[in-house]
Amino acid sequence: MSRDDGSGILLAIYRRLLAAYGPQGWWPGDSHFEMIAGAILTQAAAWRNVERALTNLRAAGIDDWPSVYRIGTDTLAEIVRPSGYYNVKARKLQAFAAHVCDKYGGNLDALLAVDTETLRRELLGIYGIGPETADDILVYAAGRPSFVIDAYTIRIMRRIGLTPAGRDDYDGWQAMFHAGVPHDALVHNEYHALLDWHHKAACTKNVPQCAGCCLRDICATGRGTDLPGLSGTDLPGLTG
Ligand code: SF4
Repeated sequence: MSRDDGSGILLAIYRRLLAAYGPQGWWPGDSHFEMIAGAILTQAAAWRNVERALTNLRAAGIDDWPSVYRIGTDTLAEIVRPSGYYNVKARKLQAFAAHVCDKYGGNLDALLAVDTETLRRELLGIYGIGPETADDILVYAAGRPSFVIDAYTIRIMRRIGLTPAGRDDYDGWQAMFHAGVPHDALVHNEYHALLDWHHKAACTKNVPQCAGCCLRDICATGRGTDLPGLSGTDLPGLTG
């Protein structure tokens, strides 16, 4: 079933989550440097392990990209070891650092000031930066609208009964959200954070906790039934 037709269900889900959980205040981190380093380190890693790696970076006095560029790769790998895949992640951090230093003289703000389309293309050209990490950086460091798609988002949406009308890949899912919610960085920021929290709080990986879920009446899984043929405006509680 696909119900991504702009009928308002994506916006309704956002409002329900915001009412249930409140603003999330993302991204966790003290600076744009930490935000971006965290986005790279969190690939295939639990956030608590990323926090340990970020703490190590702070303790080592590494708080900007020129510092990452200068330090030896083996030393950096030891520092970020708690995040897992530390040799690869050290190389990814240094690839990002090389881009900032070689093209922007080490000035991260200059990179983040590039127009959105060019910035996304540049980010995707850096080793270790895929679409999810690029969109994390666009939304949470550069303050640009570019909806972040991750496994949590897809799991929740599939359970509700929503899939893209087009391609079932990153671009297809992102296009669905771009069509269904305002093209606004603050909305994209908050919505992604709310979905992440909802996954932790209720729509967990193995057994979703549907009793008491704020989305239950509009969720195919929560209702224990599919909802074929309904549009968003047919669903209860989707106005306003
Ligand atoms: S009702 Fe259940 S499956 Fe649906 S969003 Fe809520 S927790 Fe997830």
